[in-house]
Amino acid sequence: MHDLTCCVQHPAVSHDGFSSLAVPTYRASTIVYDDPESFARRSERGLDGYTYGLHGTPTTRTLEAQLTALHRGVRTMLVPSGQAAVAVTMLAVLLPGQKVLIPDTTYSPVRKLCEDYLAPRGISHAAYDPLIGSGIADLIDPQTRLIWMESPGSGTMEVQDVPTIARIARAKGVLTGCDNTWAGPLLFKPLIHGVDIAVEALTKYVGGHSDLLLGSITVNDPTLRKSIKDVLRLVGIGVSPDEAALALRGIETMGVRMAHTGRIAREFAQRLQTSAVVSRVLHPALPSCPGHETWKRDFAGSSAVFSIVVRPEFRERVYPAMAALRVFAIGASWGGTRSLIAPMNVAGDRTVRRWDSSESLVRISVGLEEPGELWSDVESFLAAIAAT
Ligand SMILES: *Cc1c(COP(=O)(O)O)cnc(C)c1O
Repeated sequence: MHDLTCCVQHPAVSHDGFSSLAVPTYRASTIVYDDPESFARRSERGLDGYTYGLHGTPTTRTLEAQLTALHRGVRTMLVPSGQAAVAVTMLAVLLPGQKVLIPDTTYSPVRKLCEDYLAPRGISHAAYDPLIGSGIADLIDPQTRLIWMESPGSGTMEVQDVPTIARIARAKGVLTGCDNTWAGPLLFKPLIHGVDIAVEALTKYVGGHSDLLLGSITVNDPTLRKSIKDVLRLVGIGVSPDEAALALRGIETMGVRMAHTGRIAREFAQRLQTSAVVSRVLHPALPSCPGHETWKRDFAGSSAVFSIVVRPEFRERVYPAMAALRVFAIGASWGGTRSLIAPMNVAGDRTVRRWDSSESLVRISVGLEEPGELWSDVESFLAAIAAT
């Protein structure tokens, strides 16, 4: 073989005796075929076959299968981010003239998607109180095609009665989707509670190290799966096997990371209730959190993200007091090893459950640092708020 040919054809080596615990990273655009017939008939390979790198590799399929198993679903599809998971789902199920109901406390880019992208294309939306429960029945009109849920709510942490909303929607022939990023499949499995579509930002707890962006959509119904796959294919959305490989590594330690950070977050939340600068602590594991009883009934445990509400008289102190932090980093995308803190501006994102803008919401995500050192940091922050 000529050297130049030799350069582009990798020699086949033996795999005999090689058995690794790690999932190989298979990179591919082109998939090659044994003969022209199988190439010509590649579309017959179906949604589970390999036809082109964009539509899946053994690496991405491994992560999809693992998430499917954790959710007790039938199929999972990976997308480039959590936001893409929500957007692709909505594009797959909503047509002009139809309507989606969104919780007032939804991740704010989802509300923006409804307002700035779907609305101009004839798809309407209405926000509902996340604590509406069976009252959702009154909001379902003939145009309603999808009820979106996110539990607990972004920032303000209201826990939704997912099983009740899912049951009412199904009885009326309306689809349901749930953004399960806070809990992940270890703490809550939406499909088991009757939801049609479970969506997650793998960017957070599955990735676990603040270094990747990925989302997932898990369903039971093959027709729904086909509609979502169609959008991915037509719009040209796929994910990198390298991102999937990082997520496959992250998911292995998700259980211990979440158990540890969830326990510490719960302890911090409890202690913060006695702080003089804090008016409320919003963590689903605390009885004072709206929807706490629902959390107790439906969730397997506590995650590491919660919020504190700083009393109005200390409002102006919140930003400057963050200079006292030595261990916490200021940032949004939680679920990594580092503890994060972020002032949240929720008032502008609420149209149903109004938020008093004199109350400042600070979101806390507990990471893997030494808990005593972390708590000292929290205390310095509170002391800096109180110091006038
Ligand atoms: C972070 C987050 C998202 C978006 O995930 P990205 O991967 O950052 O796009 C969606 N929903 C919730 C609840 C989130 O916390």
